[in-house]
Amino acid sequence: MAMDQLPALGQSARVMLGDEIYGLLQQAIMDGTIPPDARLNAGELARRFDVSPTPIREALARLESDGLVDKHPLKGYRTTDLLSRDELVDLFELRLLLEPGGAARAAQRRSQEDIDVLRGEIDLARTAVDEDDAYAVLSRHDVRLHDRVFVAARNETLRLAYARAHCHLHTFRLAYTGSYVPDTVREHAAIVGAIAAGDPDAAEGAMRRHIEQSQRRLLRVFD
Ligand SMILES: [Zn+2]
Repeated sequence: MAMDQLPALGQSARVMLGDEIYGLLQQAIMDGTIPPDARLNAGELARRFDVSPTPIREALARLESDGLVDKHPLKGYRTTDLLSRDELVDLFELRLLLEPGGAARAAQRRSQEDIDVLRGEIDLARTAVDEDDAYAVLSRHDVRLHDRVFVAARNETLRLAYARAHCHLHTFRLAYTGSYVPDTVREHAAIVGAIAAGDPDAAEGAMRRHIEQSQRRLLRVFD
């Protein structure tokens, strides 16, 4: 059972919170430690983490809203399947509808703080790209960078629409290794440069190219 490979944290004296359990399970589903269509037994997890069923139920409900687990009436919780090729294409179509426009707005509306935060992300990504744990660091960097562009666009509705689609969770789960390359960092730097320069057309174009390239990289998973 895949759950045997989860970090053994039940032995720690400290009581684990729903938040931490959620984070650990999410990570394990993302990196394939818990494979698709695996059963997640709440009682077994409660014993493993040495907690009451409440934080386990909380964590499973959040994973369900992420689209990483499904609740079946008789079988309990199971991890969902990976995205199909068509679902991946749909997800990127959504991104192309939301993100280039968001980047253009960001170029018009960004504050100095947005520029500083976005530039900080590029510095972090450039440093991390050669490290051993590059994938883990850069996947989180990617989530923050795309979210920050929506923050800079000053449209919370747009930002939430994107967040609720959980694009990053599903694409990173699909290609846990190898989908993050130096090209990605260069593409992000072009987006940030155009937003900092206050150039909406350049920001829109840079974001569009980045999403098209990301899609091309991810579609290789199906070849
Ligand atoms: Zn990106």
